[in-house]
Amino acid sequence: MAEYWKEPARRALRADGLRIADLDTSARPGFHGDKAGGKRLLVERGRVLAGEQEKLYANGRSGDRRSVLLVLQGMDTAGKGGIVRHVIGSVDPQGVDHAAFGVPTEEEKQHHFLWRIRRALPRGGQLGVFDRSHYEDVLVARVHGLVPEEVWQGRYEEINRFERELVDNGTTLVKVALFVSLDEQKARLRERLQRPDKYWKFSPGDIDERAYWPAYQDAYQAILDRNGTEYAPWYVIPADAKWYARLAVTELLIEALRDLDLSWPAPTFDPAAELRRLERS
Ligand code: ATP
Repeated sequence: MAEYWKEPARRALRADGLRIADLDTSARPGFHGDKAGGKRLLVERGRVLAGEQEKLYANGRSGDRRSVLLVLQGMDTAGKGGIVRHVIGSVDPQGVDHAAFGVPTEEEKQHHFLWRIRRALPRGGQLGVFDRSHYEDVLVARVHGLVPEEVWQGRYEEINRFERELVDNGTTLVKVALFVSLDEQKARLRERLQRPDKYWKFSPGDIDERAYWPAYQDAYQAILDRNGTEYAPWYVIPADAKWYARLAVTELLIEALRDLDLSWPAPTFDPAAELRRLERS
């Protein structure tokens, strides 16, 4: 670990003041090593993450109401699905509350934009994962003018108040924005069109969305600038190298879980007495 990360991932990746236009999506902030080392480390750190998550889950079973919520945002092909499969896939699924947010259903459209989000929040002791999130309501909604400007403009502050409330109620937010370059996105979309096992990941609309890339960059910049708070900062992850992005998210989650300073819950029984009873049984 020390060999590869010379500073906490949270410090290396925090978005404060970052301009997306200047971001090198092939960079590996904070990581010192090569791809082979990174991949080996990912396996090792996945086990560490699983151990930390198990402690959170165990404490949740004992009444601890705290939770950790990973919020994943990124353009199509940025690798959100891979993070869910490979990073979240390394922990016990019982302890994961996963939710993906697509185009709102008819029912969801009848409600405030945070309605469906509130319903999907992680329970105490759980690692929550949002594959897309309330941020879509200031990203796609802004870029495509799905609501009038005064509506989406008001959402930034609403989101800050909402996240403040979550944090005050014991949820640690780990907000991650993954960025690939426009060329890398083209390569990934091309692959989806050339491999039968990847067709299912492709939607024709993904190509149309590429024309809105600059508008999305502006919308992403706005969430970093307006919703990167002390209590719920944004982390920006250059994601051209999938292994790096997965490792970076793994590290961010380990750091968030370790911050909770969890120990194994104390027994509600006398282990020595129970052992004696067991031997006699
Ligand atoms: P992904 O692209 O995340 O892998 P997908 O292609 O399978 O997922 P869905 O998950 O069904 O598609 O939906 C994702 C789409 O839903 C995205 O285009 C996203 O912009 C859109 N979406 C998500 N939230 C909203 C929202 N609040 N309003 C409008 N569109 C939204």
